[in-house]
Amino acid sequence: MDIKGKIAVMNWKCNPSSKEEAEALAIASDMDGVIICPPAPFIEAVRNKLNKAILGSQDGFWEEGAFTGEYSFNQLASVGVKYSVIGHSERRWLFSEDSNLISKKVKAAIKAGIIPILCIGEKERISEPEAIETVLSQLMASIKDIAEDDMENIIIAYEPVWAIGTGKNASLKEVEPVILGIIEYFKENFDKKMNIIYGGSVLSENVKNYMISPYIGGVLIGGSSLNKDKALEIIKIIRSTI
Ligand code: PEP
Repeated sequence: MDIKGKIAVMNWKCNPSSKEEAEALAIASDMDGVIICPPAPFIEAVRNKLNKAILGSQDGFWEEGAFTGEYSFNQLASVGVKYSVIGHSERRWLFSEDSNLISKKVKAAIKAGIIPILCIGEKERISEPEAIETVLSQLMASIKDIAEDDMENIIIAYEPVWAIGTGKNASLKEVEPVILGIIEYFKENFDKKMNIIYGGSVLSENVKNYMISPYIGGVLIGGSSLNKDKALEIIKIIRSTI
């Protein structure tokens, strides 16, 4: 499921509270280039409201069987999920998921025909070379078992953790060199062209900054994706700049 142009990934996290609210939010954000990732209980309800946007999930598990509370990528694929956020910083830091575990999820998602949206990002504000080194080592560990032919089937979400949910978005000047570092690394070492998006306090006031960069393939939006008006405004700005 290939989206043309820049994308907006809507990560609703553990929101909203009810199916009815989720349906209303889905209808409001149902536009081309949008990937909506609702909480698992609302996946089917949201899917039934989408005509243009594409269904995503916020996670998935690599196996089926005696794993209480988990759900597999095959199960997600069977209800229409096309993309899965994997390795979000909240999973890494609140639920202790490491890159080894995340690599199993990335592999299983690809096997199930789901495109992983693999999140990486440095925890604290550090220098540009340190940030590039940190995210590249996270990234390589998170795709260690992935065949080179599958690398371009992964969307990488560069999300500096310090910018997530803080209102302190990273500036284009901070984001672009890190994204370029990843792009160049994959070009030089694997001859692959990677699709990289940015996430971290994206708002209608700052989204245009990222969209003008030829190196940034889109944005991952948390907080702003929960407000119908704000989400719509951001999507419209993205569509008007591509
Ligand atoms: C996120 O959830 O990954 C995220 C970027 O959230 P926010 O937009 O709220 O910073």
